[in-house]
Amino acid sequence: MAILPILQYPDERLHKVAKKIERVDDSIRKLVRNMAETMYAAPGIGLAATQVDKHIQLIVLDVSEKHDDLKVFINPVLLESLGEEESEEGCLSVPGIYEKVRRAERISVGALDENGKQFTLDAVGLLAVCIQHEMDHLQGHVFVERLSHLKQTRIRAKLKKQRRETL
Ligand code: ZN
Repeated sequence: MAILPILQYPDERLHKVAKKIERVDDSIRKLVRNMAETMYAAPGIGLAATQVDKHIQLIVLDVSEKHDDLKVFINPVLLESLGEEESEEGCLSVPGIYEKVRRAERISVGALDENGKQFTLDAVGLLAVCIQHEMDHLQGHVFVERLSHLKQTRIRAKLKKQRRETL
């Protein structure tokens, strides 16, 4: 297994739209394992392939307290979204930034697992937020782009300062 480098906002490659996975084979399963390891090591609760510069429709996440409930979504499709909720989000590609984002409260999502088996999942709360956040990545969207332009400008300035200080 390997820890993969995570693209950092505002890297342009975070705006690429991910392609559908045609065949779930061993190379995909290897990427799943490496992405899971990268996510747990960060540590984070979700990671989209886009963030490790692989532009295919693959997400891993684990919102469990014990980090023992890895969920894999290949070619995820939002089947239903209901209600509205605002909650604070962060992102491994935007370190140190936490902002409130408005999203659907409950969703139903269909996808393939790492064995290529179709499943559907109903999600609420943190799991629903995390799935929507990661599905945004596959479309080339980073969560801060859902905020006002003023906030985005402030965030970019803050990140620049952070990076200068750690270099
Ligand atoms: Zn993210």
